[in-house]
Amino acid sequence: MILKNGTVLMNGAFERFDIRIENGVISKGGHDLSPDEGETVIDCQDKIISPTFVDMHTHVRLGQEYKEDPQVTIRKAIKGGYCALNVMPNTKPALDCAPMVERMLKTEAPEGFHIFVTGAITNENGTLAETEDIASAGAVAISDDGHWTENSFLFYQALKYAKKHDLLVMDHAQDMNLFKSGKIYEGKASFETGLKGFPKAAEASAIYRDGTLNAQVGSRLHITHLSTLMGLETANALKQIGVHVTMDVTPHHLIFDESAYLSYDTNIKANPPFGDERDRKALVHALRSGEITNIATDHAPHSEPEKDQEWEDAPYGIASIDSAFEVLYQELVTTSLVPLETLLTAMSTNPAYLLGMRHGIGIGNEANLTIIKLNEPHAISYEGGAKNNPYVGKESSAVVTMVILKGNVAYEYGK
Ligand SMILES: [Zn+2]
Repeated sequence: MILKNGTVLMNGAFERFDIRIENGVISKGGHDLSPDEGETVIDCQDKIISPTFVDMHTHVRLGQEYKEDPQVTIRKAIKGGYCALNVMPNTKPALDCAPMVERMLKTEAPEGFHIFVTGAITNENGTLAETEDIASAGAVAISDDGHWTENSFLFYQALKYAKKHDLLVMDHAQDMNLFKSGKIYEGKASFETGLKGFPKAAEASAIYRDGTLNAQVGSRLHITHLSTLMGLETANALKQIGVHVTMDVTPHHLIFDESAYLSYDTNIKANPPFGDERDRKALVHALRSGEITNIATDHAPHSEPEKDQEWEDAPYGIASIDSAFEVLYQELVTTSLVPLETLLTAMSTNPAYLLGMRHGIGIGNEANLTIIKLNEPHAISYEGGAKNNPYVGKESSAVVTMVILKGNVAYEYGK
């Protein structure tokens, strides 16, 4: 197969060249590649070719299929331009032992689609999960996502095991005692809506504890779904003193601020909550500057009856993996806030790097490619499964037209 005349993202910059794919692998790049007899040619004139996206924070509802069947999540991910998910451990039962990690890794998926597993740090008894077994079973990360690991000594031990087995430590940094006192951050919106607020310091103080513990261990600490300026500044200060800290941000924290809560729409209820406009702008700026290197969706599907409750009772979560790129392109790129190259890199090769996945446009790499058309205004569509996607119906001028997984067309727009 030859992809002809595409604008290709390679090493963070665009270049125009043809790509040949053979046996599922990128075999050649160059100008004016001529097809062999019978070879498929895909015209990519006026299209962007990016390495496929990699989501490093996905809730796959194994054991809670009424929220969204895992096969639907995978289908939505592919439609969204993804070739990989990193599954968070709060499945039912949780991914806190080797057999559950193995079971998750066996999830059926198209060739070229990768499932990564994050094992739990804490098991249901409140003690350290069998981290060594979890690592041997194939997990690439550990986390108590959904919750912070409150016990400092346990987290310290987890960092040490993670270092020994080269696991990424995905940190839902949020002081739970502060979090329990509210539903959104204290501020103008909590005042105006009457929804109970909790202090933003819940994030920064957790990052500080975890970062200082990691200063003593030197593991790969990753703050996921960063939401506040204070949290960002704390992580940056830790980096300044040599602590290994990386960060991701979700599409919703880049798009919404607390004023969105005035709608009482439960589909935008997420944890951590949205900060104010200063927080949001700081996150966008940090993505642009490279302080934040990754975008993760925190895809968290819920059923309609669950979300169709009073705001206070509805579960936290936004399920947007099928439309993350389209909405981010519209909100950040068409407004010149973030260059397209930065957005695509933060969604593809940067997360792949943290998960230990060889990825990107290069000879010998698996041919996992997302083809995008710009200037194609359309309304973001509903793709089945959970409906808690606040972007459905919004206009976007970029569309994923094709997804190639291991050299095969896995998705085509409009087909
Ligand atoms: Zn979380």
